[in-house]
Amino acid sequence: MEQSGGSGATMKYVVTPNGKKLVTLIPGDGIGPEIVESACRLIEAVGAPIEWEVRRAGASVFREGIASGVPDDTIESIKRTRVVLKGPLETPVGYGEKSANVTLRKLFEAFANVRPVRELPSVPTPYRGRNIDLVVVRENIEDLYAAIEYRETPGVTIAHKLISYKGSEKIIRFAFELARAEGRKKVTCATKSNILKLTEGWFQHIFEEIASEYPDIEANHLIIDNCAHQLVKAPEQFEVIVTTNLNGDIISDLASGLVGGLGFAASGNYGHEVAIFEPVHGTAPKYAGKNVINPTAMILTAVMMLRYIDEFETAETIEQALIVTLEEGKALTRDVVGDERAVSTTAFTDAIIANL
Ligand code: NAD
Repeated sequence: MEQSGGSGATMKYVVTPNGKKLVTLIPGDGIGPEIVESACRLIEAVGAPIEWEVRRAGASVFREGIASGVPDDTIESIKRTRVVLKGPLETPVGYGEKSANVTLRKLFEAFANVRPVRELPSVPTPYRGRNIDLVVVRENIEDLYAAIEYRETPGVTIAHKLISYKGSEKIIRFAFELARAEGRKKVTCATKSNILKLTEGWFQHIFEEIASEYPDIEANHLIIDNCAHQLVKAPEQFEVIVTTNLNGDIISDLASGLVGGLGFAASGNYGHEVAIFEPVHGTAPKYAGKNVINPTAMILTAVMMLRYIDEFETAETIEQALIVTLEEGKALTRDVVGDERAVSTTAFTDAIIANL
C-alpha cells in the first residue's frame, strides 16, 4: 500500500511500497526535454529514490485540440503524486487560448510562488560580491491574474483586481513560515497601498496583523516602486519579500536579473495539496534541440523539489556539485562564457556529475 510522506495530517508526497517517492515529470516544450534530462541524470546519479510518472502538457496537447493544454491523465497523475517537476510549456498562439502553466497553478491552487534569488559563483553580474540571498514570495492565483476583464464601452476596458482576506492571509503566513524555516530574520511586504487603498492597502493591513504573530521576525513595508528601486540599489538588505500577484511577477523577474538572469532562476508553486516545481524561464524555442542551453535553473528547481520531498542530503549533494562546477569555471554554457569557450548542456551536466 502507498504511504503518505510529510508530517502531521498533511500528505505532501506519496511513497510506493518499494520506498520510492512518486513525482509527476512533465518534460515540456522547446528546451524543456534537454534541461529536464540534465536534472534527471543528476537525480539518478545521486541515487535519490524517485519514481517518475512521465506525463504531457503544453504545445502537443493544444494541437490535439485539448483547450486547457493539460490532458486528463496528467491531471490524474498529479492528483495521485501531489508533486510535479516540469520543464517550460509553450503557450501556442492561434490554437488553445489559455496558458497550460496557469491552468495547472489554478487547478491545483498552487497559491504561493517562491523564487529564491542568490549570487552564484562564476556568473557575471554587476552585483558580484554583494551576497544577494533573498526569496520572493508571490501570491499566485488572485489579483489581476484572476483575469476578470470586460469592455465597458467601445472606448473603455476594465479589469478587476481581486484581493481576498483568505488568499492574502495564506500567502503572508507562508512567507513568515518560510522565513522561520530557513532561518531568515526579516520579511518585507511590498504593495501599492498609497494608491489602491482597498486592495493593496488591505494586503498591507493583513500583513501588519499577521506580523504581530511572528515577533521573532522583523517585518517592514515598502511601496512597490520604492521596493524596485531598493532592489537595484541595495538588494542585500532583503531576506524575504511578500507581494500580490502582479507586483510579484515583475519584481521577481527584476530580482532574477540581479544574479544572472533566466538561466539561473528556479521556482516552486506551492498549494496545500500539490507543489509544482519549474524554472522561471520559458521554452527558448530558438535554442531547442541544440544542446547549448544552461540547465542550471532546472537543476536548482529540482533541488527545491528534492527538499520538499524530504530528500535533504541528495538535494545538498547536487547543489554543492553545481556550485563547485560553476566555481571551477572549466565547463560553462554559452550564456555564461559566450560561444567560443562554451561547452554543451550535456558536457556541463557531465562536469556536475563528476563533482558529485
Ligand atoms: P524564454 O524564457 O523562453 O526565452 C527568452 C530568452 O531567454 C531566450 O531566447 C534565451 O536567450 C534566454 N534563456 C531562457 N532560458 C535560458 C536558459 N535556460 N539558458 C540560457 N538562456 C536562456 O521567453 P520567451 O521567448 O518570451 O517565451 C517562449 C515561450 O515560453 C512562450 O511560448 C512562453 O509562453 C513560454 N513560457 C513558458 C513559461 C513556463 O513554462 N513557466 C515561462 C515563460 C515563458
